[in-house]
Parts: sequence; C-alpha cells; structure tokens
Amino acid sequence: MLTIDGSFGEGGGQIIRSSLALSLITGKPFRIYNVRAGREKPGLKPQHLTAVTAAAEIGCARVDGAAVGSREFTFVPGEVAPGEYHFAIGTAGATMLVLQTVLPPLMIAKEPSVITLEGGTHNKHAPPFDFLQKAFLPLVNRTGPHVSLELERYGFYPPGGGRINVYIEPRSEPRRLEIETRGAIEDRCARALVVKLPTSIAERELQVIRERLAWADEELQVESSANALSPGNVVMIEIRTEHLTEVFTSVGERGVRAEMVAEQAATEAANYLSIGAPVGEHLADQLLIPLALAGGGSYTTGPPSLHTTTNIEIIKMFLDVEINLASLGSDVWRMEINSGSGTV
Ligand code: ATP
Repeated sequence: MLTIDGSFGEGGGQIIRSSLALSLITGKPFRIYNVRAGREKPGLKPQHLTAVTAAAEIGCARVDGAAVGSREFTFVPGEVAPGEYHFAIGTAGATMLVLQTVLPPLMIAKEPSVITLEGGTHNKHAPPFDFLQKAFLPLVNRTGPHVSLELERYGFYPPGGGRINVYIEPRSEPRRLEIETRGAIEDRCARALVVKLPTSIAERELQVIRERLAWADEELQVESSANALSPGNVVMIEIRTEHLTEVFTSVGERGVRAEMVAEQAATEAANYLSIGAPVGEHLADQLLIPLALAGGGSYTTGPPSLHTTTNIEIIKMFLDVEINLASLGSDVWRMEINSGSGTV
C-alpha cells in the first residue's frame, strides 16, 4: 500500500483527488495522512468527502476512516464500473472538483457513463463550469474520449444547489496531445454573468475589462439569469486561439466590489497574453493526468504553480511516467510527459 503525506507540496485537496483517480486507474491502494494539514480547517471538507465516496462508488472501493474532518484515511480500489451516477455534495462545494476525481478512470473505461453532480458550479479557487466546458474538455477530448457537459442550474456559495450533467464516451485509442504554440487569436470575449442580481453589476465589471484590456464593446456581454437558489456573479474572459481556448474567471462575493472581481480576471488574462505561452496556470496542472493516461504529450506554459509541481509528484507515485519540466527563459516553460503507449 502506498503511503502519502497529504501535507507535501501544495498540501491541499488536489493531492486527495489525484490520488483517488490514479488509485482507481492503477488498482494501487493508498493510505493518506496529514490530509490538508496546512489549511485553516484541516482534514476532509464535504467537497473532498464527496470525491472520496464518489471514487469509492464508481470503483467498488473499500474506504476506512473518511468523514468530514478526517486527517487520514485508506482507500482500497476495486474494479471501475462505468454507468449512471448521481453525486450530491450537499453544500456549495465545487462539483467540478468532484468531476476531476471520477473523470480520469471513467474516460478510459470500457463503456460510457452519465454523471449528475449537485453543489457549486462556479466556486472560488476551483475550475468553474465554463472553464471545463470551453478550455479543459476540448483538450481532453483531443486525447481520445468524448466528454460533454450540460448545466441545468447554477450553484453559488452559500447554498449551492447547482446541477450539472456529464456525458462520458470513453476513448477507443489514446492520442498524445502536443501544444507548443498558441497561434493567432481567432476570437475573444468577456462575459459578466449576474444571477438574481442587477445588470448594473455586470456593466461595471465590463467597464473594467474595457479599460484594462482595451476590448471593443462587441467583445463584452452581459448575461442575466434567475436559474439558481441564490444570487451569484461571475466574470469570464475567453480567448480562442488557433490551437486552444483559455478561460479566465473570477467569482463575485458579498463584500467585494464588482470592479475588484473584474480586475482579478483581467489581470490573469493580461498576464497570459503577455507571457505568450498557450497553456495557462490552471490548465497546466489539470492537463497532467489526462496526458499521462494518453501516452504523453507536451505543452508550453508559464511558470509552474505549486499545484503543478505537486501533481507531478503524485502522478509519479502511481504511474510509470517521465515528466520533464524545463525553463525556456522569459517565463516560458515546457512540460513533456512520456508514459508509453496509453499507460493503462
Ligand atoms: P484546499 O481547500 O485544500 O486548498 P481544494 O480542494 O479546494 O483545496 P486545490 O487543491 O487548491 O483545491 O485545487 C484547486 C484546483 O482548482 C486546481 O486544479 C486549480 O488549477 C483549479 N483552479 C483554481 N482556480 C481556478 C480557475 N480560476 N480556473 C480554473 N481552474 C482553477
């Protein structure tokens, strides 16, 4: 059994999710201790516990010691069973992070799956629905599977209550993914979504984007909806280039001025544009597992985050892969993954 120190590197929830996904894929059991040791409230939160129980359900696994607040638990995987599943976090915890756990094993399974997830759809410090739909999944799909998402209802902090359906057609053949350059910008837009909130908030946010990025009015859109349990607000900046689409988001919160929310997304987009590498910070850590399962690939990106370097270490614990990360100078890095033909 592998023993994992949950406090190493980034020391957060990603260590748990990556370990669960890779354990299901490889059949290797693990024990993790010091779960989220460095966080303000250490141990498993409802979102992480849902990831553990979801992984256990799709993989007929035996779990010992996992409950809200647990600082250690063991996970002994069985066989992954594709099919129809429904996972409800019960809070506004990020549904997209639960998906990050169950997607890798299901997208290389023998049969299709349909998953319904309930909880938060647009959370701080997590990939929002639109990032997965427009940036992450189109790249994952280029490695072989076909995964699509449908949003039935938005879910925001504090009540959650969002609902998302995920349709997974597993790959037949793994394909490597190489993203060396971004190519020309083909389209770009900034959307400010207000749910059960006045559109003036969205207009103030778009004014910041107009000034910071010097984008034209036709590239800025206000979106208004009442389809959620509670109010919510998200700024999403989408940049479609020849070789991929990147999405930069910022989620509004009570007590934070709309201008600050937009400023954060604009800063991320401006950094991305100035570095010039195709893969942004969040895609860089999230693409590692799909590429390792596809036999490998490569991409250029900005300076690696602690999430990225931590994920590399976890992947190496479970899979026989070579992952090389090299600086190309001027804030540009190249990631190369080689894992044989289709790995598992
Ligand atoms: P903890 O509470 O322990 O910090 P967590 O389980 O909420 O952890 P992290 O371990 O910090 O989450 O992992 C967050 C994941 O969300 C990472 O994969 C990161 O790339 C991704 N992420 C965070 N913000 C964004 C964003 N704006 N767009 C896309 N992905 C994001």
